[in-house]
Amino acid sequence: MSTTLELAKQLIRQQSVTPDDAQCQSILIERLHALGFTVEKLPFGAVDNFWATIGNDGPLFAFAGHTDVVPTGPEANWTFPPFIPSEKDGYLYGRGTADMKGSLAAMVTACERYLANSKPRGRIGFLITSDEEGDAIDGTRKVIQLLQQRQVHIDYCLVGEPSSLHTVGDVIKIGRRGSLSAKLTIFGIQGHVAYPQLADNPIHKSLVPLRQLAETQWDQGNQAFPPTSFQISNIHGGTGANNVIPDTVNIDFNFRFSTELKVAEIKTRVEDILTEAGTQFKIQWHLSGEPFLTPAGELLTAVKESILHVCGIDTEAATTGGTSDGRFIAPTGTQVVELGPCNATIHKVDERVSMAELDRLSEVYEELMRRLLD
Ligand SMILES: [Zn+2]
Repeated sequence: MSTTLELAKQLIRQQSVTPDDAQCQSILIERLHALGFTVEKLPFGAVDNFWATIGNDGPLFAFAGHTDVVPTGPEANWTFPPFIPSEKDGYLYGRGTADMKGSLAAMVTACERYLANSKPRGRIGFLITSDEEGDAIDGTRKVIQLLQQRQVHIDYCLVGEPSSLHTVGDVIKIGRRGSLSAKLTIFGIQGHVAYPQLADNPIHKSLVPLRQLAETQWDQGNQAFPPTSFQISNIHGGTGANNVIPDTVNIDFNFRFSTELKVAEIKTRVEDILTEAGTQFKIQWHLSGEPFLTPAGELLTAVKESILHVCGIDTEAATTGGTSDGRFIAPTGTQVVELGPCNATIHKVDERVSMAELDRLSEVYEELMRRLLD
């Protein structure tokens, strides 16, 4: 009987829909206490977090993860009830199996095996939150701020997000694109469509600059990142009547940007295009995360070697996909790599993870600690 599997099942039974931890962290803390970890609970608002460490000096290797899961959607669409861990054809089904209760279980059991046989020359930490899938305001971001105030520096951080594509370890994430959103309002003057000379149509005014924004090549990307992409996600204008020119049109858009661009530069270029088109506008920006990239270093080398050793494959280091809590950790100068199970079913109905791969993932985590801390 695999203890990783048993622990994963125990976590999946807790209905920890973000940001509710639903006692998942108590389960983890109990296991870490038993190993001799010092655990500090760090709740902020409705969010549960904890920081646990073992060891007194040497490099600090931390595992970052989340106990919250996304909502299930209609439970009737699931083959098995989402919070009752179920096995079928070598897979474990349940909400959070891949994202990321499987990784949490794999890391805890990896620590248990590693510490039973070794005396690490460094320190091991766990940074766990229940607010990764939600607003991500009171989670990892706050804990990292606190650690910085205390001058605790994490040297190496492994994020347990499901990074793999076809088989565990085939893809790791060594960075993420930045994400910058905007809510744009273009102003005009309301009026009767039959008397356009008495009005000013903001929808018409938006067409030229929007087309220009959509067609602009923002950068060429670089070795680690694809070119920056601009996407409009919503346009709303009009009163609903077909004889009224509205006074405003609202447009939402988002940039996924590479390390070739700075946030300030993107903002200036967008606002210049709107100004040059002669529009009256208001724009509200929201930065979800700066791009980050972990360059070649001890962590990246150790992760690649561990995967090769345990899985027998050369991993691909990618920067694709959405954002993760790595965005809050990397800016402190920490080397950050994401490695977890296959992500094909995350956030979907029938989320599942291969049970054999869960064990292999745990072996990779253990091997990684050996290479970094022995
Ligand atoms: Zn996740």
